[in-house]
Amino acid sequence: MTTHTRHASWQGPILMLGFGSIGRGVLPLILRHIDCDRSRITIIDPSDLNKKIAGAEEIKFVQEAITKANYKSLLKPLLTAGPGPAFIVNLTVDVDSLDIMRLARETGALYIDTVIEPWPGFYYSAKTNNAARTNYRLREDMLTLKRKLGKGTTAISCCGANPGMVSWFVKEALLSIAHDLKIKHDVPKSREDWGKLMKKAGVRGIHVAERDTQRIRTPKALDTFLNTWSVEGFVSEGLQPSELGWGTHEKKLPPEGRRHKSGCGAAIYLERPGADTRVLTWTPTVGPHFGFLVTHNEAISISDYYTVRSGRSVSYRPTCHYAYHPCNDAILSWHELLGAGGKRQSVNHVLDEDEITEGRDELGVLLYGHKKNAYWFGSQLSIEEARQLAPHQNATGLQVTSAVLAGIIWAIENPNEGIVETDEMDHVRCLDVQRPYLGKVKGYYTDWHPLKQRVGLFDEKLDKRDPWQFTNILMR
Ligand code: NAD
Repeated sequence: MTTHTRHASWQGPILMLGFGSIGRGVLPLILRHIDCDRSRITIIDPSDLNKKIAGAEEIKFVQEAITKANYKSLLKPLLTAGPGPAFIVNLTVDVDSLDIMRLARETGALYIDTVIEPWPGFYYSAKTNNAARTNYRLREDMLTLKRKLGKGTTAISCCGANPGMVSWFVKEALLSIAHDLKIKHDVPKSREDWGKLMKKAGVRGIHVAERDTQRIRTPKALDTFLNTWSVEGFVSEGLQPSELGWGTHEKKLPPEGRRHKSGCGAAIYLERPGADTRVLTWTPTVGPHFGFLVTHNEAISISDYYTVRSGRSVSYRPTCHYAYHPCNDAILSWHELLGAGGKRQSVNHVLDEDEITEGRDELGVLLYGHKKNAYWFGSQLSIEEARQLAPHQNATGLQVTSAVLAGIIWAIENPNEGIVETDEMDHVRCLDVQRPYLGKVKGYYTDWHPLKQRVGLFDEKLDKRDPWQFTNILMR
């Protein structure tokens, strides 16, 4: 029998908000690796889709929707039931992360989520402009709260696979490149140190480059959206404007590019939905391919974290964005949805570990533009491995849930850090917890660059002198 390392213990209540494809995968990891009393775990979710899984583990299941009107009255009694402080694991859609973070601080609870989620209405409001529907805006609100609350009980923002784990990969990848380029440096200890090392290594940009090849036996039916994680989550982010951290090496904004008027200034957005914005990218198994430039928190937080300033001016910042090739069925689902003017399909379904017949999720970071051209570092996890490693999840899910586990453990070990982003956490400790669940974790150098991927038969406006300009990466 496999014995699992108990990384931490927790005496107080654990509230799992949301029990969808990620929640149901996180539960067994908590039970394996955290010494806790299962009678003090409560799951809250309006859907009974996964209730059976909770029942089999004898975990309390409250079938109710958390709303702006009821969240305090519903959660407070559970958070203060003792003994000791509670831990909130927020894996919902449609529940405002910042309101729950405020409540966590008020009640002394630790907190973790995997995205900055707003109450319903934010993503699809036609009343606001596109700048107001960005992740930049959601992150700025989180940063304002972080400054306002200051130090206090730890609340980790955006700790899934991406955003989340990929920020830890960036650090590992950067240290490998620095080593291979024989760059002399001390072990970076602060954000400034990390930024300076990134600059010294000559990294011009970072793709969060993901290729999901998981598939099922029967192809997608008409009027159905299939994905390997939340359909709700993917549709809402895919219809937000594309966003990317905007590096100092970029020569010009794309025609549909827009800057923000306030905030950290690390990112731009495009007047175009992410699910309809293709970029050129590269992952090890498949090589060159198209990805969607879907907005993600990490594109902004990573660019911001590695920004080097001299006084008030920015002397260095890497470009950073997601380049996501979801599973083929999700691509067909988007084709159908966008072709129908955004009309949602009547069936939304997350492919589970039993129906997926083959494939893997290759999720990593591609650091490009340095003297060794480009380096991809990440997890190559197959569905077969995922099935063997942990129950109730596919390969995509396990990359996310193991990052949530690492975050929970880090929060227990560092309970008084206030609101933190994953760029600010100890990447060595987190990957140490997570690595057993990631399949092959490996780095690859490549001589690929976006100009090599252009077909060359059409007169495209490319920058032939500088392959790593965003102009060459973005497809028109
Ligand atoms: P899912 O759609 O499978 O599950 C979401 C769950 O939230 C559902 O069970 C739903 O019933 C529940 N829910 C909806 N409204 C609720 C409410 N008002 N109160 C309580 N629960 C409510 O999604 P998932 O794949 O499990 O993803 C969960 C969250 O994690 C999403 O926000 C998603 O965007 C995010 N996510 C992040 C990453 C990452 O790598 N950072 C990866 C995957 C998912």
